[in-house]
Formats: sequence, C-alpha cells, structure tokens
Amino acid sequence: MNNRPGTSGLIFNEPNLWDKSREGRCAVSIPKADVERADLDPGLTGETPDLPQLSELDVIRHYTRLSQWNFGVDSGMYPLGSCTMKYNPKTNEVQAARQGFAGAHPLAGDDFSQGALRLMYNLEQYICEITGFPAATLQPAAGAHGELAGMLMIHAYHAKKGKQRLKIIIPDTAHGTNPASATLCGYESINIKSGEKGILEPEAVAAVMDEETAGIMITNPNTLGLFEENIREICDIVHAKGGLVYGDGANMNAIMGIVKPGELGIDVLHLNLHKTFSTPHGGGGPGSGPVSVVEDLIPFLPVPRVERELDSYRFTTDCPDTIGRLHTFYGHFGVMVRTYAYILSMGAEGLTDASRLAVLNANYIKESLKDTLNLPYDRPCMHECVFNDQWQKEHHITTMDIAKRLLDYGFHPPTVYFPLVVDGAFMVEPTETESKETIDQFIDAVKSIAEEAKSTPEKLTSAPRLTKVTRLDEVTAARKPCLRG
Ligand SMILES: *Cc1c(COP(=O)(O)O)cnc(C)c1O
Repeated sequence: MNNRPGTSGLIFNEPNLWDKSREGRCAVSIPKADVERADLDPGLTGETPDLPQLSELDVIRHYTRLSQWNFGVDSGMYPLGSCTMKYNPKTNEVQAARQGFAGAHPLAGDDFSQGALRLMYNLEQYICEITGFPAATLQPAAGAHGELAGMLMIHAYHAKKGKQRLKIIIPDTAHGTNPASATLCGYESINIKSGEKGILEPEAVAAVMDEETAGIMITNPNTLGLFEENIREICDIVHAKGGLVYGDGANMNAIMGIVKPGELGIDVLHLNLHKTFSTPHGGGGPGSGPVSVVEDLIPFLPVPRVERELDSYRFTTDCPDTIGRLHTFYGHFGVMVRTYAYILSMGAEGLTDASRLAVLNANYIKESLKDTLNLPYDRPCMHECVFNDQWQKEHHITTMDIAKRLLDYGFHPPTVYFPLVVDGAFMVEPTETESKETIDQFIDAVKSIAEEAKSTPEKLTSAPRLTKVTRLDEVTAARKPCLRG
C-alpha cells in the first residue's frame, strides 16, 4: 500500500473521561478567592454535577484524540457524491471569525449593523447574478429549508391567484428532501421516471402536468450528475398549464458562471452555501440555503428583507404577501460571511474555473474507472459520476464492501445506494479542489479493490480492517449507538 494515504498511524485508545477522572484534578488555575466561599444555590447542596475531574493535559489530549478519530476534507479526499465536500479555504474562516462579524448582536438594530446589512445586501446581489434571478432571500438554514421556503412561495402564489393546486411533479432522481418539502406544503408528490438517457423526457412531464398541479421540482444537474437537457421545454410545458418550476440548486458546483438557472425557465431556486460556497459541513453544523425567485414571486419572499436606500441599509417586514419568517433573526450569518469572502476571493472567473475543474475531474474519474465498475449511464457527466456493483456481484461483492475497503486504502467512501434509480449506486464527486495526483491515487485504489474482489474477496467482506473501529453491524450501530468511545 505504498504511496497511498496512510491508514496505520498512531491511533490511541482512551478510556471514557469519567474513568480517567481523579478527585481534585482541575484543568484551570483559579486565583485564590478574596471573598468568603458560598454555595450558589443552597437548594442544590449535595447535588454537585457529575463532571469528570481532569488536568489540562488530559483535556487537550482528549480533544486532539477525538479530532484524530475523525475524518474531514482537511484530512483527505472526501468524494461524497451530492454533498460537494470541497476544501474550504481558511481565509473564509478567518473573515467569519472577525470580531465585528462574530460579535455582532442580532438585536443591535439597523443603525449599529450597517456592515452586516451591507454584506447581506451585496451577497443577495451576487447570488442573483450567479443564479440569474432578480431577488433572493438568505434566511433558510439549509437546502431542505430553502425547498420549504420555495414551496411555500409557490403555494402562496397559487393561493393569491384564487385557486390552490394539489400536486407537484417530482422525478425519480430527486433528493428525498424534495417530496418531503412538497408534503409539508400539503402537496401530493407525483413521481415520474427519467428516460433512458438518465434525464427527464418532456413527454413524461406533459403526460401528468395539468391545472391541478402546482408545478415541478427539478434538480439540474440531476443526482445522476447529468444535465437535464430538456429543461427549457419542460419549463414551457409546466408554465403553459399555469404551474411553476422549483429548481433544486444543490448541484450548482457544476455550473457556476456557466449556466444561470433563472435563464432556463426556473422560477425559484435554492443554493446550498455549505456545499458550493465553502462552509465546512457534514457534522450537522450550520448551513445556509438561500432562495432566488423570479419577479412574480418577490412579494412572497420571507421577512425580514434587506433594503438599501442610498448608502444606508435596513430590514423591512412591510411585505403584505410574505410567507412570513422562517428563522430566528436573519438566518445563519456566519455562513453568509464565509460565502461572501469565498465569492470575493475567487472572483467571477475563479468561480467559473471551479465549476469547469469539478466537471473535468468527475469526467476523468468516469473515464478512468468505467472498465472497472459498471457505468449505467455512459455519457459525459457534470460534477459527479454514478457507477454500480453489477460486475462485482458475480463475486458476491457489493457496493458496501467496496466502500468499506476504501477506508483501508485511506479514502472516505463515496455516496452509496443513492440515487435510488441506480441499483447499488456508487456515486463519486471529486470536486475541483483535489489534485490529479490524489485523484489518480483514488482511481488506483478502486482498481486494486476491484482486483481483490476477484482474487481475495474476503479482504472486502471483512473490511475495514485498518481503521480504529472495524466493520460494524449497521443496524445495531444505528439502533444502539455507543457514545462512550
Ligand atoms: C444536499 C441536497 C439537498 C438538501 O440540502 P441540505 O442542505 O442537506 O438540507 C437537496 N437536494 C439535493 C440534490 C442535495 O444534494
């Protein structure tokens, strides 16, 4: 395993902190009290909180160890399809941590928040420029929340026109959050199948689109990593029946600076700032899912909205048709600062190049591995490519076995078993930030695992073997998680 990312470093075990605890150990030196000692709350006497007593070094080693047991894009390649786990430049973190931003109080009022307001206003403008729409909101906290915001606006639009509709068309390649968001708005999801080329056929949409249908939710590029080439015709079909088109923009990393979704006929679109626009994600931390809209939907945008008058900025809630407030205060401001810094530091050309490289890298992997893993849709892809385990199944090896074995080779596995339209899917998204050398190592690792599948399949079925925790019983791990190390 020479020249592969290391997998056998010094990985230390550690008992749980309560077992390490020793009476009187303390991680901080508190100056001698110059007042008389008193209990905080006499009612609680005798009930000291059950906290481990540890030295400073114990605590430092504990957290350092935890960080070493973890894997992130800062440790190695993280080709998790659909998630855009690209490297997030550290300057964006530095800007978000600036005292003026990090310490801004949401109740400071508009006069004392001009810098933050200006940043939000400008960021909305940049997002409008990138997506091709006249207005946007930064409020939603994630992609799924953006979908909810967008679907609520579509709902409000139909209500305002005087007749609510009942259904939403959703293709079989959609992310699970799409039907969930539609359902939350009271719409019934009408599932339609993609055609043989892995993209939607206009006829399939025309067959179900009627005046009871509020519109369609469409992801472009879709979750097979393919560009929906019939998008314009599909938008026309939906519009002709009075419906609206929701665009899931989670895959914007493939088309920044190249395609403006607003010019394709889409009416409302969310972005995932934590995917495309550089915020570390995956650990459940804050995200942001801004939503851009066409002119007709502007009145329904959530409040508060940021307004500019000459050189002064303020929040307004004076929007009678708004769908209301979706988040406390103004959304996840720290993510907005990171995005703003990312956009400014990349510039228009840099963002376009990022998308071009993301697409090039995915196509390079697709071409390099298509004789190793079955490629159900053998067409030029966008930022990700989807293989499956059809050939390995002959040796009783599944996508899950390949994914687990990749851990032994020092790679985070790709997304597996999604999208659902591909049986045993193995979905690779290298992103623009990996070098050719790293991508070549990944390709070699997958090729070598495919050889093992034929010659020594037990290496796969028992993988991973070099990680701190070896193969788990997935059901037990999910149902009875062991949280004590
Ligand atoms: C990630 C993703 C979502 C959901 O976004 P979150 O930010 O995770 O809520 C929706 N659609 C697609 C295609 C995605 O990849």
